[in-house]
Amino acid sequence: MKSTSAVKKPWMGLLAATLTVAAGAYAVAEVTRYAVHDRNRPRPPVVTPAAQFGQPPSDAIILFDGADLSQWQKGNGSPATWEIVGDAMTVTRKGGSIQTKRSFGSCQLHIEWKTPEGVPARVTDQNRSNSGVFFMGRYEVQVLDSYTDDDYATNKTYADGQAGAIYGSHPPMVNACRAPGQWQNYDIAFLRPLFDEKGNVVRKARITVFHNGVCVHNNLEIEGTTSHKVKAKYTPHGDGPIGLQDHGNPISFRNIWVRELPEQPYLIE
Ligand code: MG
Repeated sequence: MKSTSAVKKPWMGLLAATLTVAAGAYAVAEVTRYAVHDRNRPRPPVVTPAAQFGQPPSDAIILFDGADLSQWQKGNGSPATWEIVGDAMTVTRKGGSIQTKRSFGSCQLHIEWKTPEGVPARVTDQNRSNSGVFFMGRYEVQVLDSYTDDDYATNKTYADGQAGAIYGSHPPMVNACRAPGQWQNYDIAFLRPLFDEKGNVVRKARITVFHNGVCVHNNLEIEGTTSHKVKAKYTPHGDGPIGLQDHGNPISFRNIWVRELPEQPYLIE
């Protein structure tokens, strides 16, 4: 996007210049600046919301609606083999983790998931329907059966590994889980990280997560690439796929859609 402000001021050449905050092989963000109430500022495109909350608006990219797995593949590029039953897809034995064929940066994601009923009591902790949603193939919002009573009697695990956690760093602010066998949903706004030409982080990723309509992360800064038992740190990268984890535990997903989100302009200083 080029600088488009039509405000004619002597200082415009400097202040309205397109701000490139990263370059090279990594994310390139070109941010345009506008004056207050600039009437030549482009108005936002019109999006038609769905009639029902949770359904995709007109500009959404449908990632899964029950028809097929055409938007998904394994990490090695081979076809996704999760089982489709009705409008849901379910991890199958040796199905492996899957990811979108398309790459994304900043985005809004809606996804619904369900853990099975009747899981034996001996199946606990991180083996109780573990999965996860990975943004840019790196940053995991944990999926787990974390439904619990007030005594945390159902499934104990470490707080930064329960459902809704940014795995390994930030537990959800509250536990908004529904019981096994019930559909749950995440509505997530993800802001991509930006890197400079040397690969240094110039803006960390941020994430806002609603779990079953309850805000569990509010514009949270992500510490880096998700790891296990290792503190997250950043390594530079470009766009990446949205991934769904196969942890060897049964888990189902349905109604998955995404909206790509542009960089938002700044005001002229
Ligand atoms: Mg996981």
